[in-house]
Amino acid sequence: MPSIAQVEPMTTARALRGPFDYRLPAELRGGAVGVGSMLVVPFGRREVLGVVVGLAESSEVAAEKLLAPLRALELGVPAEMVALAEWIAAEYCSTLARALGLVLPPGATRRLSGRKRRAVKRPEHLSVGARAPAALALNEDQRAVLASLQGALECRVAHERLLHGVTGSGKTEIYLRAAETALEQGRGVIVLVPEIALTPQTVGRFIERFGETVAVLHSQLRPGERYAEWRRLREGEARICVGPRSAVFAPVEDLGLIVVDEEHDSSYKHEGDPRYDARDVAVERARRSGALLLLGSATPRAESEHRVQSSLLPRRVDGRPLPHVDVLDMRGEGLHGAQQGLHPETVQALARVRAERAKAIVLLNRRGWSNFLSCRSCGQVWSCPDCDVALVLHRAGGFLACHHCGHRERAPERCSACGSTSVARHGAGTERLQHELAVVLDDGAFPVFRLDADTAAGASAAASSEPGAAGAPATRESAVSALLRRFEAADCGVLIGTQMVAKGHDFPDVTLGIVLDADATLRFPDFRAEERTFALIAQLAGRVGRGREGHVLVQTIAPQARAIELASRHDSEAFLTSELERRLALGYPPFSHLIRIVCSAEQSEPARRAAVAVRDALDSRAAAGEEPRGSIAVLGPAPLFRLRGRERESLVVKASSRLPAVQAIGEAVQRVAGSRGHHGVNFSVDVDPQ
Ligand code: ADP
Ligand code: ZN
Ligand code: ZN
Repeated sequence: MPSIAQVEPMTTARALRGPFDYRLPAELRGGAVGVGSMLVVPFGRREVLGVVVGLAESSEVAAEKLLAPLRALELGVPAEMVALAEWIAAEYCSTLARALGLVLPPGATRRLSGRKRRAVKRPEHLSVGARAPAALALNEDQRAVLASLQGALECRVAHERLLHGVTGSGKTEIYLRAAETALEQGRGVIVLVPEIALTPQTVGRFIERFGETVAVLHSQLRPGERYAEWRRLREGEARICVGPRSAVFAPVEDLGLIVVDEEHDSSYKHEGDPRYDARDVAVERARRSGALLLLGSATPRAESEHRVQSSLLPRRVDGRPLPHVDVLDMRGEGLHGAQQGLHPETVQALARVRAERAKAIVLLNRRGWSNFLSCRSCGQVWSCPDCDVALVLHRAGGFLACHHCGHRERAPERCSACGSTSVARHGAGTERLQHELAVVLDDGAFPVFRLDADTAAGASAAASSEPGAAGAPATRESAVSALLRRFEAADCGVLIGTQMVAKGHDFPDVTLGIVLDADATLRFPDFRAEERTFALIAQLAGRVGRGREGHVLVQTIAPQARAIELASRHDSEAFLTSELERRLALGYPPFSHLIRIVCSAEQSEPARRAAVAVRDALDSRAAAGEEPRGSIAVLGPAPLFRLRGRERESLVVKASSRLPAVQAIGEAVQRVAGSRGHHGVNFSVDVDPQ
């Protein structure tokens, strides 16, 4: 009978590498403790939470030196989740403790008391616009797709499928039916959505269809509520988990189906350590459980199109055509011709919507009032003290904000350099656009709503200059759904906002969609810039003309850009084909893996030296013939702009094979970080950066 537990202590220190052996007292032997159990263990002078990652008959540590755990906590995680965490640690160059942190019950690392948690009330989930509690009769396209998915589910081995269906083609109904099949087989389901607050309709449909067997897990719930939902899944009381990226770690046993809705959405990538991508974790989890992974989107990623067998839903369920899209060339429209940065045709179209008492959605992917301020006398530009970026004016709150680090300061009355009171405001964001459109359009019966990160944070936070004044944890959730509900309930009006307005909303009476500055996303120095631009336009167009005929206007100074032209023709097949050709020619994913290493320090010199040292370490491996399986090419170092007071240098590795490259990079970084002369330098490794 195993008497030794191999325990990974939940510490964030990278230098500490477990697992460590502990002696199990008699009462914890014989099945009471297994892989995935949570123990409180003595560790140095502290008591820490530890997770059992293995059991053994004996230990290399002398018996008298072995310590025993202080106690076991009720209800750990399934053993398969420990294995998944091990995979994540290796795959994303992180530590096992950090990866385990993802799979443990909510709040586990913060609460060591081990006391039984009070049963808390389950959260209530409201839905916007969901109106189909009973299963719908599928159309012919849907039936064909469902039959093929059911075939995949029947064989109970891992499959991946891409559901490439135009906006409004009834993808959600397919998810629901596939989930039903999985439940009938006695298997569980995970449904990933980009953000709960922005996808209340999808969540609502699952709850209406499956009731109590659905658990919703997301960060906006109060800690007790989150734990209650997690526990219902862990105990098998709930068999379907709906949630954002972290729901990929839900303790659903006998998993039969994972759905990733809007699979192109960048929120599936986690930006803290471990920098995991929930879509890749879903692939791995499906593989281990023999589950079907179903990726769905109207604008799938080139990677998915390339790798995964796809099914098409080429038509909207209501039989309506996709809306006509006009591209409006803004070159030469200047500041004089254009009213509030709007093309004359845009102004007319908005006036028409108002006259017809219909609804419009306007996308401007920039929040705040003005992009930057400058002094008219001396030219000073207000920038962030900690980052090399300009501060954005938020007029209602009376402050300037850094959109990278959150720094805020009062809006200036005069120039701090020369004292001039003449301060110029450049550019327009959503706050200013709302104000200006309201002046022109809102006669008291045609409201202008705004949805962006500021309004989502709740009116109080947007209006005060106190960061973090967002109030109760559920505020963002309720502010967004309240706003969406008000727009839905209004007889007519305009919803303006950032990309949040283009997510999966299903409002039947929107007849006009407008994208302003459509090439803004194209100007990002990122190989995914074109894909993002295409998706943004196609997704906004997808919100339009769902109940009545609709029309979309795209303002741009790059009307010939491939992404804009093909999006205006709704031609995602042609876009994907040409995008894959381009990526092949340049050696970008899916034809390679990119791994980014960022070295940061207070001064630029040490950051640069560290980056050079990492590159040299990788080069010398190659020279010594230790090159990992497959080839790797190291690009850089190249400077990134200063962020949060730190100068940054980045290296980009292009690798033909991911895991060996990650391992080689992990070793090189460890070697450099542990060597002399790189004090105060932080290293971060981002696999498949987004
Ligand atoms: P998508 O996710 O593809 O954009 P949705 O799943 O939101 O599309 O479906 C759009 C609308 O069509 C929803 O209101 C949904 O209830 C409805 N719908 C889906 N399938 C059918 C069907 N077979 N018959 C009638 N209505 C349907
Ligand atoms: Zn000045
Ligand atoms: Zn900043």
